[in-house]
Amino acid sequence: MASQFATVSGVRSSTNPYKILIAGGCYSGLAVAVNLLEKCDTIESPIPVEITIVDERDGFYHVIGSPLALASNSYAEKAWVNFKDIPVLQRPDVRFLHGTVSKVDCENKVATIVEQPDQAQRDEAYDFFVASTGLRRVWPVVPQSARRKEYLEEARRHIDAVANSTAPVLIVGGGAVGIEMAAELKEVQPNVKVTLAHSRAKLLSAEPLPDNVKDCALDLTEQAGVDVLLNHRLKSQTPVKNENGTEVFEVEFENGHKMIASQVVMAISRSVPSTTYLPEDALTEDRYVNVRPTLQLSSDKVANAESHFAVGDLINWSGIKRCGSAMHQGRYAGLNIHQLMLQDIQGKEPVFNELAEIPPMIGLAVGKNALSYGGEGMKHGKQVMEWFFEDDLGFRIVWDHLRLGGIKA
Ligand SMILES: Cc1cc2nc3c(=O)[nH]c(=O)nc-3n(C[C@H](O)[C@H](O)[C@H](O)COP(=O)(O)OP(=O)(O)OC[C@H]3O[C@@H](n4cnc5c(N)ncnc54)[C@H](O)[C@@H]3O)c2cc1C
Repeated sequence: MASQFATVSGVRSSTNPYKILIAGGCYSGLAVAVNLLEKCDTIESPIPVEITIVDERDGFYHVIGSPLALASNSYAEKAWVNFKDIPVLQRPDVRFLHGTVSKVDCENKVATIVEQPDQAQRDEAYDFFVASTGLRRVWPVVPQSARRKEYLEEARRHIDAVANSTAPVLIVGGGAVGIEMAAELKEVQPNVKVTLAHSRAKLLSAEPLPDNVKDCALDLTEQAGVDVLLNHRLKSQTPVKNENGTEVFEVEFENGHKMIASQVVMAISRSVPSTTYLPEDALTEDRYVNVRPTLQLSSDKVANAESHFAVGDLINWSGIKRCGSAMHQGRYAGLNIHQLMLQDIQGKEPVFNELAEIPPMIGLAVGKNALSYGGEGMKHGKQVMEWFFEDDLGFRIVWDHLRLGGIKA
């Protein structure tokens, strides 16, 4: 049978491994690497690979933990793990490049990377490419630093500013991120007055969730000690000095309500997919990536679409963007790449894992409680917090699920 991977056919050895380039080393990208390695490591039919993971950060950042990382210095230390400290990926056939993927030439299978710290440009050839670069999120939804050391400083400055505030800290935007940021801040720094303002009549208004879930989110947020202002659309925020000479903000809402806030934290900006390096033909108008259920690019206008995959938040797929989905898709992409390798080596027809449509589901941490909604309806309370997040906003759960510590499943 003729190989569809003409440029990579031939006997595979450690000097001629399959090259897999993964753009983005967070939940979905690391899931691709770990699952693919587990398949290629089998004693019966080992397959030599060389995996390159490119990320703008110098480590794995637990995005879900962001609301807590930006409220607690000790948690901030835990939430970012340098890639060199992830045990399961310390092996000669895995390397990390610190930089930005700026272009992908699908026809020639070459990616261009702008490396840190000197912005040097390098080209990397690959056999399989995975786009797992998620969404671009603004400060202070996530830190903007590229290095762990700078991130800790960025988080510390923010935490100090908030902790020393006398007037309320105003979080603008009652989506999942705004709710979690407000509740975590109040949980970690109970002396700080926290106000959450949302432009609509219900929290989580943009999500395809039933009203009882939105009402429950409001109850839990208020129980966490956060003052919630519904139907409050921000009109303006003006920096002024208070009587002590400290900078505060005069805030006005479109309904005429005014308040003084020590900090205004915007949790409303629409995040955009980080996909500028992909060909336009692979993208929707909103710049999400069109994929087949196998996670391969779906456009027939993209050369070698079958050896290019996309996973995680940046794909054009049903369901609320979630970490669990990102890891699930990463796993499927890893397994499907392995199937394509077997096809190339043994001429075996690939048996692909296919992504199903994803119904709306959510897990939301709100201070000491959590709320979940999915196939089994809505649940909330401390037990739900334990199931979904434990006491570290899900860090341990994700770390073990991805087997980053080296524990076999
Ligand atoms: C504050 C907050 C709280 C959340 N809480 C929850 C929750 O409780 N439960 C839940 O399920 N989900 C939650 N989410 C959503 C969840 O974090 C995302 O679904 C998840 O991060 C998606 O993973 P990903 O791997 O697709 O992308 P990301 O986690 O965004 O990772 C993308 C990676 O790519 C890198 N990158 C980007 N562009 C480039 C480039 N051009 N070149 C190289 N590297 C690049 C980035 O540095 C990053 O490391 C939350 C999100 C936020 C922001």
